[in-house]
Amino acid sequence: MIKKLPNNKYEIVVVGGGMVGATFAISLSKILGSDCPPILVVEAASVKNQENSAPSYDARSTALSFGSRAILENSGIWEDLNEVVEPINEIQISDKGHFGSTRLSCKEQNVDALGYVIENSDLGAVLSARLESSLAIDYFSPGEIRKASPTQNGMRLIIGRGGVSYQVDAKLMVLADGGRSPICQQLGIQKFLKNYEQRAIIANVSPQKPHKNIAFERFTPDGPFAMLPLRSFDDQNRCSMVCVTNEQESEEIMQMTKGQLIATLQEKFGSRLGKINHIGERYDFPLKLSIAKEQVRPGLVLLGNVAHTLHPVAGQGMNLALRDIHVLVNCLDRGIKRQINPGDMSLLQGYIDEQSFDHGKTTSFTDNVVGLFSSNKASSILGRKLGILSLELFPMLRKSFAAEAMGLIRK
Ligand SMILES: Cc1cc2nc3c(=O)[nH]c(=O)nc-3n(C[C@H](O)[C@H](O)[C@H](O)COP(=O)(O)OP(=O)(O)OC[C@H]3O[C@@H](n4cnc5c(N)ncnc54)[C@H](O)[C@@H]3O)c2cc1C
Repeated sequence: MIKKLPNNKYEIVVVGGGMVGATFAISLSKILGSDCPPILVVEAASVKNQENSAPSYDARSTALSFGSRAILENSGIWEDLNEVVEPINEIQISDKGHFGSTRLSCKEQNVDALGYVIENSDLGAVLSARLESSLAIDYFSPGEIRKASPTQNGMRLIIGRGGVSYQVDAKLMVLADGGRSPICQQLGIQKFLKNYEQRAIIANVSPQKPHKNIAFERFTPDGPFAMLPLRSFDDQNRCSMVCVTNEQESEEIMQMTKGQLIATLQEKFGSRLGKINHIGERYDFPLKLSIAKEQVRPGLVLLGNVAHTLHPVAGQGMNLALRDIHVLVNCLDRGIKRQINPGDMSLLQGYIDEQSFDHGKTTSFTDNVVGLFSSNKASSILGRKLGILSLELFPMLRKSFAAEAMGLIRK
């Protein structure tokens, strides 16, 4: 749907109205209020068209940390998510073939929830509705950026829809067009790449027993297996399953009949939630680490998967992007109020200076966890029992959990 045809000049153009681009635009417009210059968001896919829906809004679910909730509250988005998120009240971490499990509960930590699970399609619906109704945002969808080139004062973009194209000048282009990003290639931005030679298979499942707001993380020799709690639907218990495995097994799993698939998943996960009664459509995602070697240039900033694509094992991709959005919005807010060009390097460098430590820490943490999960060495098994994953997802638990976990280590 087109809200409006693009004008030929904008202060800020956001390329990609996926989870990250949309959240950025909405957050900036909320923080700046009436100071917000009109923002153009261009999204290639139409969210309402299921056949061609945006990659962000597929059947996946996203685990959001506390920090992310606070960021989304700040930008006013959380109030629309309250109804659709499922809280995580407990996390159970276990190692297939090894005795014992580690538990964290919100009760012992004295918090409302340890985190929240949102279905990407629900998040997509909320964000799209906000984009469509915002007076500060021109939402052009479906429409795609075909070319971007630097100018003296920012970036020049060619936006297309079918046979029609528009030329738009922007002082700042926020590139949030996902991991494939032909625009990034066009601009000659190099990436550091590491292929994990693993795939994540995701599907929604209905187990026999209710999840009771427990998130399960189970380590298997082939890779981690997670069951995240989802809202029940038509009285059916529902969980979001993420099964990480090597490329060969993932190919086999994708070919299986539903009966074979359920038996395989049941074998990996065990019977904690009873029998898996139903399984929805399955999707698989290749897993890699990809880091853009330049995160900012004059008139350009990269956000989300185009900036850094992480393995989903630690549930960090969207949570990191939300922290980036928070810091970038604050830098732009300060700059725009002082009438500084939003594409000015002084603002963008300020953003990257503030976030580069977080980028490095989150990236290396996630990469280390992948190694830990893929190893059967005794030391790795021990590390897994310490539940590092949960510690990173919920940083406030780190201190108390560390002490507790020591007492839980069993051989
Ligand atoms: C299996 C799996 C599970 C995950 N679980 C978690 C989790 O629990 N917690 C967490 O924090 N993270 C998680 N992540 C990571 C999270 O999904 C990503 O961080 C997030 O999807 C990145 O969103 P994005 O908007 O940057 O990119 P995308 O989702 O790829 O969106 C990019 C958008 O840009 C549009 N676009 C592309 N090209 C153009 C163009 N030329 N013009 C206009 N528009 C364009 C696309 O249509 C799309 O809508 C998971 C990832 C995977 C694979």
